[in-house]
Amino acid sequence: MDTDLGPTGTETLCDVCTTELDRFSKAGALADRELSLLRQPKRRINVNIPVRMDDGSIEVFPSFRIQYNSARGPTKGGIRYHPSVNADEVDELAFLMSLKCAVANIPFGGAKGGIQVDPGELSEGELERLSRAYVKEYHENLGPNTDIPAPDVNTDSRIMAWMRDEYESITGRQTPGVITGKPVELGGSEGREYATSLGGAVILDRFVDDVGMTREKTTVAIQGFGNVGSHLARFLHDRGYDVVAVSNVDGGAYDSNGLDVTALFETSEGGDDIFEFGAEEISNAALLTLDVDVLIPAAIENQITENNMTDIRADVVLEMANGPTTARADTHLAEREIPVIPDILANAGGVTASYFEWVQNTTNEYWTEKTVREKLTAHLRGAYDDLREIKTAPEMTRTWREAAYTRAVESVLRAEGYRSNVEG
Ligand code: GLU
Repeated sequence: MDTDLGPTGTETLCDVCTTELDRFSKAGALADRELSLLRQPKRRINVNIPVRMDDGSIEVFPSFRIQYNSARGPTKGGIRYHPSVNADEVDELAFLMSLKCAVANIPFGGAKGGIQVDPGELSEGELERLSRAYVKEYHENLGPNTDIPAPDVNTDSRIMAWMRDEYESITGRQTPGVITGKPVELGGSEGREYATSLGGAVILDRFVDDVGMTREKTTVAIQGFGNVGSHLARFLHDRGYDVVAVSNVDGGAYDSNGLDVTALFETSEGGDDIFEFGAEEISNAALLTLDVDVLIPAAIENQITENNMTDIRADVVLEMANGPTTARADTHLAEREIPVIPDILANAGGVTASYFEWVQNTTNEYWTEKTVREKLTAHLRGAYDDLREIKTAPEMTRTWREAAYTRAVESVLRAEGYRSNVEG
């Protein structure tokens, strides 16, 4: 059942990832031989998982875990549940995790996992059996010093709890550090649940201060009102930003005078449709082309593409989803001098808090919510400032994405270099 697919020799990275990597070889900054290390994952695992359904039948779910690069430390990254999950997508996301951990300056490599499933179609019992089966199949490749999963699209602290428990039933040892994003009662960190969003708000504050914008005069549209988008709307609203539009898969709400974010948050927490909230209804596609100061794609990949790039009217894009901008659109926005704060910086708050959780699990010393928030804020400000320094180095003009890739690729390859020093 367990097939090790890689390395296959085929490149599966997204166009924006390969465009950025190609830039290094074109500039002669790095040899192709070195870069080839980053063009393919270290280990791909693929298991078709059989699960007993409530009606007694057995259904098979394709699943993946890609451990992309482990030079900087144990591999780290979430597990997503989605009907369209496939090996290429997980490869790309695992690559991004490898870079994200370097940009965030935390001692991890990158990984990603996924199960091809629509979790909304499963009963609670089926979901638990599937989540436990995933750990049963992959446990030999997981561990606090090996590969540490976390939540991602459609997975949450409850699923992480089942996964920790399953891992410990198999190994017979308490191992809280095997997975992050757990409930606080089970070794989770205070603040982890909203950490990605808090991180995004910290980065946006830094940027806005940097370029002399005023929060109160900054309008924001957020695509995606799941865990990341909804908490981010709340943080930005509390900090004085004017959140004028939010949307989810079913549609969105828009009010040019600003939305009542607190009420919207409660509406969505209560499971009600946000587009019925009372403000003007707006489609997902229309939200992306609103004339706002900050556009925040916080849902899934490939949202700003060659089909809508010329219609984008925002002054800044903050990528809270992973890979929301295609290479063509990225180049187009750069030509129009619209800054794009890339995913590997903007949404690094989640994995940074995961690192804090892992530190707490390994030291057995637990921090208050205030401490987590302070550490997260300081850490991400540092990450932003590091990139700004690279971006504004006198000899070159770079985009934020180029700056982030420069920092991350150099860091990963330096770590690889230290490990494979044949002369030493
Ligand atoms: N899934 C999140 C991300 O894409 C968090 C990963 C983690 O905490 O390991 O960054």
